[in-house]
Amino acid sequence: MRTTSILSPEVHAVFETLLKGIDVEKKHRFINVQGKERRFDAFVRLQLKLVIKHVLDEDAIPKLLMQFQRYDMMDLPLRMHAVDALEHFCHAMLKPPTKKTATVDDDENLPAGQQSLAKIKGIGPKLEAMLRSLGLSTVEDVLRYAPRQYIDYQQRKKLADVMEGEYVSLIATIKRVESHDLKSGKLSVLRFLFQDDSGKASSQRFFSTRQRAMLESVKSKFPKGTEVLISGKVKWDSFNHCPQLDNAEMQTLSYEDGDESPMLGHGATTVLPVYPLTQGLNLKSLRRCIQNALDTFSAEIPDALPEAIRQEQRLMGVHEAFHSLHFPMNLAVAEKAKHRFGFEELFLLQLRLALMRYTYKHEIQGQSIHVKPDGLVHQFLEGLPYQLTKAQARSFQEVCDDLSSPLPMNRLLHGDVGSGKTVVAMLTLLVAIENGFQGAFMAPTEILAEQHYQGCVEMLAPLGIKTALLVGKLGAKAKREVLQSLANGQIHLVVGTHALIQKSVEFHRLGVVVVDEQHRFGVKQRLALRNKGVDDQMPELLSMTATPIPRTLAMTMHGDLDVSVLDELPPGRSPILTRLLSNSHRKEAYDLIETQLVYGRQAYIVFPLIDESESLSAKAASAEYERLRTEVFQHRRVGLMHGKLKAEEKDAVMHAFVQGELDILVSTTVVEVGVNVPNASVMLIENAERFGLAQLHQLRGRVGRAEHQSYCVLIAQQKNEETTKRLEIMEETSNGFVIAEHDLAIRGPGDYVGLRQSGLPELQFANLVDDYELLAQARQTAFEWMERLGVDGLQQEHPILWEKLRRGSSEEVKLLSSG
Ligand code: ADP
Ligand code: MG
Repeated sequence: MRTTSILSPEVHAVFETLLKGIDVEKKHRFINVQGKERRFDAFVRLQLKLVIKHVLDEDAIPKLLMQFQRYDMMDLPLRMHAVDALEHFCHAMLKPPTKKTATVDDDENLPAGQQSLAKIKGIGPKLEAMLRSLGLSTVEDVLRYAPRQYIDYQQRKKLADVMEGEYVSLIATIKRVESHDLKSGKLSVLRFLFQDDSGKASSQRFFSTRQRAMLESVKSKFPKGTEVLISGKVKWDSFNHCPQLDNAEMQTLSYEDGDESPMLGHGATTVLPVYPLTQGLNLKSLRRCIQNALDTFSAEIPDALPEAIRQEQRLMGVHEAFHSLHFPMNLAVAEKAKHRFGFEELFLLQLRLALMRYTYKHEIQGQSIHVKPDGLVHQFLEGLPYQLTKAQARSFQEVCDDLSSPLPMNRLLHGDVGSGKTVVAMLTLLVAIENGFQGAFMAPTEILAEQHYQGCVEMLAPLGIKTALLVGKLGAKAKREVLQSLANGQIHLVVGTHALIQKSVEFHRLGVVVVDEQHRFGVKQRLALRNKGVDDQMPELLSMTATPIPRTLAMTMHGDLDVSVLDELPPGRSPILTRLLSNSHRKEAYDLIETQLVYGRQAYIVFPLIDESESLSAKAASAEYERLRTEVFQHRRVGLMHGKLKAEEKDAVMHAFVQGELDILVSTTVVEVGVNVPNASVMLIENAERFGLAQLHQLRGRVGRAEHQSYCVLIAQQKNEETTKRLEIMEETSNGFVIAEHDLAIRGPGDYVGLRQSGLPELQFANLVDDYELLAQARQTAFEWMERLGVDGLQQEHPILWEKLRRGSSEEVKLLSSG
């Protein structure tokens, strides 16, 4: 990817800095390392923003930014991919373009699909370089390069015929191009007027002042008189009295030899593919080289999908699909080809997951342990001040079934915030302990580990269980003691952070591992703890999460796990009343807090940042803390919590808040995950517009954890229509899954595309968010096949499929199935 011209020294330095940061993050196994100033993801975003204006490829940096926006939520493989992508990008920016010196003989022995681009007729070094910049490096890549749309010369719309609300693609000529700044001074608009022989239409696109360069580059790409393919949704432009194409996509058409009625290869076609292009590459030469690749190679490429599956799913053979993808007889045929490739992608993806699960279940020994008739579990349940919810009881039963089977448990407990996952965790650990094993309970932050430790001591010490806390801040002596008694078996249960997975930690007989907020850990970290079992016996693993993700993504991201769901909250909780306030109504929020404090409750006030370095508009928690403490709530006990406090300070503050010695906790998002102070009943979130819905949901989940009516107030500093709409969803629902779906609907799958491209294998044809049915089918087929054939069967009977599976993501499979 070569996206810029010569770099200025400053820009060069930024990429160097990024590469250094990447190195550190890699060394720390992608834990999102905390640097002096900020964590890795924030560091990356900051650096990228510094150079955004210097990169010509408009999409490259926004795409990366999106990935690093979500980095903290990503699983290890996702993080590795995100970092990989970033690293590649940095190298590409730093390196002068090098001539590829691949000699033709290199790949003489390779299968047809993997041969180099140079083997395709008509591709010289220049074209090859351009194709490479599109991410294509083999013959098969070219054959699978999906058109982003087709022009159907029979169906083509005229401007006079378009209807409001419909989505159209059509060809027209640019009649006018103009741009100017809006009054606000923050935005510029770029307007186009198009014309064909039937009528005219307009389109406009907005740019922020920072995107000036982008505006200019779009403008210069589409001068007046250019013939373009435009597509977009039709609105009415009342100013110009013509249709307007909203967010129109435009692409230059180049008819080199006055080729007005395009006939390519097969004379009969009236449908032409339109591909994403790159600078210097025109549609026509790309079409020609794809045509050549089809003619020479497509017949030689074996079909990865077994005949039986193709028949069952009524899918085209690969050869036919290649042709139909690029030069279909009609659009329906093109759809069928895409459908076939989409299924193939999803099938491979799911087969990979099926393989991981298969190896886990079949090649690894678990224990077989049972609940004892009058053991700890029963005593614990008798002493519990409340009844388990149906969902908790069901999930625990599912856990018990896993534990009693000789296969190792690998289960995910998925439950919304406040649904009561902790007690299921304790029960699970108790089964191990009453059978003479040790348990380990890992949490992502010290605050949370401490909280779980307190909870375990309180509830389990009466049963004679010895619990220890293991976190980084322990003194050397205390730590040595814990390690010793873990190794000799004096301690039954250890609660801790990453400190648990250090080499020095040895167990006497580890039976069950519970990982809370599992999305905060990487796969490797979870594996590391699991590998601390006795001999080659695996401890049983229960992971817990509240991350609501759309079900399609869940099927892939947690695709290799068994899942239990806590789909109800403990009884007696009334929904948290949520209100969105604007800046000027902050007083109302303070009044609400004051009233609740009078009733003896406590409150959180959360800020997105802890100092003002990132932006002036951001209220800093520290500064605000001073103001709140000395002005607004001077008669109250106010505490401050943020990530930069020393461990002991954090402890002291949290402890005071838990004990009710503080009324108000002013905090950054360090309280986001898991914190449980049931007496707190108000959550005030400042700059709410800066948070994603999922994060707001997590934060809000810190209140409403007992019978008290609880409140959440969202204050938005800058409100526009979009943020208001988004935040209003928080007012309307408290269901995490509903919120996730809304989030998706508002932002569109585009945002999740970042996620997809960053981690899960890059998909061209299928969409992990939208193609639910297809994914479900592919998943079912893949899991059935895996069960039926086993690893050997798959390898021997379907070598092509196996090869693809192996090549596709060997790293990931190795990592996950290693065990
Ligand atoms: P989360 O699923 O968010 O981790 P917790 O396990 O922290 O939730 O539980 C939230 C609160 O609900 C805790 O105060 C816990 O004591 C309480 N709780 C859990 N299960 C029940 C139940 N079955 N009935 C009543 N309260 C419960
Ligand atoms: Mg929790």
